[in-house]
Amino acid sequence: MDCDGATRLDPPARGLVKIKEESMTQQVYFFGAGKADGDGSQKSLLGGKGAGLAEMTRLGVPVPAGFTITTDVCMEYLRGGNRYPAGLERAVDRALTQVEQVMGKRFGDPAAPLLVSVRSGGRASMPGMMDTVLNIGLNQDTVSGLAKLADDERFALDCYRRLIQMYGEVVLGVPKEAFDEPLEAIKRERGRRVDTELTASDWSNVVERFLDATQRHSGKRFPQDPRQQLWGAIGAVFNSWYTPRAITYRRLNRLPDDWGTAVNVVAMVFGNLGSTSATGVVFTRDPGSGERKLFGDFLVNAQGEDVVAGIRNTQPIEQLAEVLPAAYRELEQVCHKLEQHYRDVQDIEFTVENEKLWVLQTRAAKRGALAAIRLAVDMVDEKLIDHKTAVLRVNPHQLGQLLHPILDPKAEIQELARGLGVSAGAASGEVVFTADAAVAARAAGRKVILVRHETSPDDIHGMDASQAFLTARGGSTSHAAIVARAMGKCCVAGCEVLEIDERAGVFRAGTHTVRAGEVITLDGSSGRVLLGAVPTLDSEIARVVRGELPAEKAPVYQLYHRLLGWADQARRLKVRANGDTPQDMRMAVAFGAEGVGLCRTEHMFFQEGRIERFRAMILADSQEERRRAADQIEPFQREDFAAIFRVMGARPVTIRTLDPPLHEFLPHGDEEIAELARSSGVSEARIRARSELLREANPMLGHRGCRLGITYPEITAMQARAIFRAACEVAAEGIEVQPEVMIPLVTHVNELKLQAELVRNIAEEVFRETGRQVPYTVGTMIETPRAALTAKEIASAAEFFSFGTNDLTQTTFGLSRDDGGGFLPHYIEQKIYPWDPFATIDPIGVGRLVELAVAEGRESNPKLKIGICGEHGGDPDSVVFCHRAGLDYVSCSPYRVPVARLAAAHGALSGG
Ligand code: PEP
Ligand code: MG
Repeated sequence: MDCDGATRLDPPARGLVKIKEESMTQQVYFFGAGKADGDGSQKSLLGGKGAGLAEMTRLGVPVPAGFTITTDVCMEYLRGGNRYPAGLERAVDRALTQVEQVMGKRFGDPAAPLLVSVRSGGRASMPGMMDTVLNIGLNQDTVSGLAKLADDERFALDCYRRLIQMYGEVVLGVPKEAFDEPLEAIKRERGRRVDTELTASDWSNVVERFLDATQRHSGKRFPQDPRQQLWGAIGAVFNSWYTPRAITYRRLNRLPDDWGTAVNVVAMVFGNLGSTSATGVVFTRDPGSGERKLFGDFLVNAQGEDVVAGIRNTQPIEQLAEVLPAAYRELEQVCHKLEQHYRDVQDIEFTVENEKLWVLQTRAAKRGALAAIRLAVDMVDEKLIDHKTAVLRVNPHQLGQLLHPILDPKAEIQELARGLGVSAGAASGEVVFTADAAVAARAAGRKVILVRHETSPDDIHGMDASQAFLTARGGSTSHAAIVARAMGKCCVAGCEVLEIDERAGVFRAGTHTVRAGEVITLDGSSGRVLLGAVPTLDSEIARVVRGELPAEKAPVYQLYHRLLGWADQARRLKVRANGDTPQDMRMAVAFGAEGVGLCRTEHMFFQEGRIERFRAMILADSQEERRRAADQIEPFQREDFAAIFRVMGARPVTIRTLDPPLHEFLPHGDEEIAELARSSGVSEARIRARSELLREANPMLGHRGCRLGITYPEITAMQARAIFRAACEVAAEGIEVQPEVMIPLVTHVNELKLQAELVRNIAEEVFRETGRQVPYTVGTMIETPRAALTAKEIASAAEFFSFGTNDLTQTTFGLSRDDGGGFLPHYIEQKIYPWDPFATIDPIGVGRLVELAVAEGRESNPKLKIGICGEHGGDPDSVVFCHRAGLDYVSCSPYRVPVARLAAAHGALSGG
């Protein structure tokens, strides 16, 4: 066992130091033979494992007898300078005697020795972080007693050497290698390949060498006194609360340092006493599919670690019915009892010692996405749990996995590179390096993956034609990521190791070179880039939502539908979608969106044939020219808005005025400039000069957002006209509409006032012109720190706020959303940032600005409606944050709407 560089403290000498009068509170909790001092509700005092053992004992489950020393004792011991509190020794003695009585063996008795394990067990599970010592009680004398009892000398000696090694490492700080070396030496000397070939005499020799190694490395003898072993192990387990790995684990999982760990001292039982003994793990239902049948495996004549080590092939649990029928029948009953009691699927460790079943541990089973949703719904039908519990049982991230294709978990993979998984799903295709090549390949019926340094609006036709995108640059809010999520496609971004040579038609990843036409696979969840076509499994739910499969033929969809119905009843937050096309909106509505939270009008120009007109508008150098260009665009915009209003009907639709990060829209390279000159009739020289003028050294923070609408009011006017004309047109068809006009990137209330006034004037003008009125609101995005800090003033001119947390994160961190790829993965791996702040909101920095703006905005305008439309709106943890911050809605890409619905319910049900 690795002690991870921790400073080990010597076990206290026998004869414990009393540091205070005997404590009044109970320090030790016995369990055994159907009686237990504690119960399952006492997790904070007894730790998860101790509470589980006590509860199982009370239920009449056959648990080996033992006792738990409380977490309070642990903290008292650690705070008192590694001294055991007064009274502990007596309490342990009493409990040990009870264990001896129940098990019919005595600790240290050479004829029938009781052996015990000493295990940690904190309030929250900290897998593998703290220490365990097994087989305590073995020494030169008792080892022969064990050999006689088991009728197996080899087995007894193996147990003994394991104790010496574990005790040496955990209690005395002996390095692992000090034991590996002599074991390997014996195997060499005696020509044995694996441990199982060692004989009793070999193990006896190993024991000698281990005893010797312990003394040499620690300067101390391995204690022969079982009680000294016991106290040494108890102290070491307490001290393992403070090993560096445990401290790090707690920091990462935000667990307090003052919880402490309980210590469980449990009678050892052995599954390796011949053909009537076995050990295994059983799940009360299948944790992969959720199917209602026992699932698991076991090994005859084996110890728990043999099952895990995979040296021998395990047998499926059903076969236990043939091998040890009585034990199997009892195991079935135990499984049923525990599942009914805990009202959840259990993961149970058991041992059969000479045909007698012992249960060593039970805990809620980890489950896959499909099982999670099936179990939740099935258990409601079985009246085991209520709707709320069912909703909380499904992790929104897991639901996300069911909405996208995933890699076939059974497939073999060869990883080429790893970037940021910014849009979930999995897809394979031939590598193409240009959007045109993607379109041509699709026309020829081939599937492709578009590989670019970064994507831009110019690539949109190629993105539409591709299965997935891979970019060397950019992060969670890059163009590629946002478009991928909107299209429901998979995307790996910021894969900095890729060296892309577009001209030569190759990319290199380390030593690998991949040519155009070769097939790769992307996993948008983990960010992995894989060689070849890895099989994927399609999402049944998405197929129903897309209308490709009838709901009656889709059992998973039906589970999903029921669960989300319960989530909808529980949540307070509304869920809207970000989308720019009627197709997006239809998907969004099918996924349950209750409105549009962000229609990025600049994205509407991504369609082929439109980008030139858009460029002509931003490249125009006189107001007159710009107005002419804008007038040409207006009919397109109006048509698009009308189509969106028709799909969304009475649901609110937030349309944002133009906010193009200009660098994405400028023509790059000679070819594009020539093309634009041809289509616009403007000379190449002029286009070059104008785009040079518009080029920005620090894009995303320049001439964009409302700054554009303020300097070029004719653009905002055109857009407002298109919105209100479309709204009136659709209203005239008898469809209720609810437009919300949103002004982006505001930093000062005056910006909003100017733009809002312009929008309202145009609305009046259109209402006069059409003779029809529609209800509408004007609001703003809060996406700069100054906007958040001056929310009080801004709210006086706004009917709604929508947090643009992509830009708010960028501007709060002072970290360009497009340029983090080089170091963000490193930052996240090193835990400098606990996670990617562009993916999950930074609650104490960016989140604080959000909370402030909510409070102060509502103070000056109590009717203010508040939402979020940054990419965080579809991230489960961020959605829970938004619930707690008191927002009215979240908005995210259509494929994330179900995830946000479930996360919103989690926010509401988890006491926020
Ligand atoms: C934002 O900044 O969060 C936002 C939604 O706007 P965009 O991503 O278009 O800048
Ligand atoms: Mg923004």
